[in-house]
Amino acid sequence: MALLPVADALSRILNSVDRLEQESISLHDALGRVAAKDHKSNLTQPPFAASAMDGYAVRYDDISAPLIVVGESQAGASFTGKMEKGQAVRIFTGAPMVDGADTVVIQENISRVGDEITINDCKQKGSNIRKAGGDFMVDDVLVYSNTIIDARHIALLAAGNVAKIDVYHQPKVAILSTGDELLEVGSEIGPDKIVNSNVPMFMALVKEHGGIPVNLGTAKDTVEDVKNKIAEVKNVDIFVSIGGVSVGDYDIIQDVLKDAGLKVNFWKVAMQPGKPIVYGDFNGIHYFGMPGNPSSAYVCFANFMLPAMCKMQGIVQLGFKTSHAQLEHDLKAGGPRMNYMRAHYKENETGEKWVNATLTQSSANLKTLARSNCLIVRDVDAPQGTIGDLVKIILIKS
Ligand code: AMP
Ligand code: MG
Repeated sequence: MALLPVADALSRILNSVDRLEQESISLHDALGRVAAKDHKSNLTQPPFAASAMDGYAVRYDDISAPLIVVGESQAGASFTGKMEKGQAVRIFTGAPMVDGADTVVIQENISRVGDEITINDCKQKGSNIRKAGGDFMVDDVLVYSNTIIDARHIALLAAGNVAKIDVYHQPKVAILSTGDELLEVGSEIGPDKIVNSNVPMFMALVKEHGGIPVNLGTAKDTVEDVKNKIAEVKNVDIFVSIGGVSVGDYDIIQDVLKDAGLKVNFWKVAMQPGKPIVYGDFNGIHYFGMPGNPSSAYVCFANFMLPAMCKMQGIVQLGFKTSHAQLEHDLKAGGPRMNYMRAHYKENETGEKWVNATLTQSSANLKTLARSNCLIVRDVDAPQGTIGDLVKIILIKS
């Protein structure tokens, strides 16, 4: 069977994935969530004209002669009277402007003796006043739909007195590893065993990208154990299994899942690493069967599962950003599969990126992955690359 091109695999996934439901949450819980609608302000900010500085509220036309200070306006407690000709009011940053005044003179430009002030410098009428609505008006859109909410958006929404935010649900992701050789981190490691590194990685990847991971543990490579474990796959949006999707005698997960209702959409993609990936529908849940080699699983996550998670959450950028960088060394010609090389780029002072992929590319190798900050994307049958050639990179680390 011909291998499915990467672009076709991705469009099959994205065509089958919908946005999740919406929910209304407290602004305090909104960090990292994705707005499901435009959020408008409930008030005008500032709600009143206010002083932008500590100083004195005056009438600009009066400032050539000494003025008498008749009161004070502080933030949270305004001057309630009306300021008359020849008068001034002491005022502080954020305090409401004074009725009858049109200018604030900063205190550094004033000499005061008792209740009398002399203005030494004030160049412009209307100085140092924040106008009502100078930031935003009631009903202005503060945060647009599909924004990933960060600390700045939270401040803006708080200032607009928006206490509840409509966001998309976070995708729930069940994670199952398979393999008789796997032990959990921290175990005593006996002969023939290795430590499960994919599950901790996927738990972290899911959290890092806005999802909620559910660890189903590790199934032995037996029909019985895999069956037992997949019975726990419920109430999630994505089910990802790791390992056992290739063609070895112990690669049984696909068959066991098919017996339990899996409809395979595709198996095997023209990519290196990651070829044996399986994608399908497991009783209404999006199923990704990842190869067990950690770097293969990671590359499949970056190319396929992350875009699906982004789409579910309403994130417009479907996956890692891409860029281009110049090769620090030659690269041999590509083959019949897309190749994702773990690589490291550096940016110089003028913004040029230079990329290096000389660490080992074995898909079993995790150190290379952890030391990389990008993947070089090499197209099917890419020609040989020469130092200085521009290549596409996926920015896996911001
Ligand atoms: P498999 O896809 O099951 O044939 O596994 C391919 C390779 O990945 C084997 O060397 C496995 O031992 C290794 N492997 C599978 N699952 C994991 C895991 N969860 N953590 C670390 N290595 C794994
Ligand atoms: Mg295995």
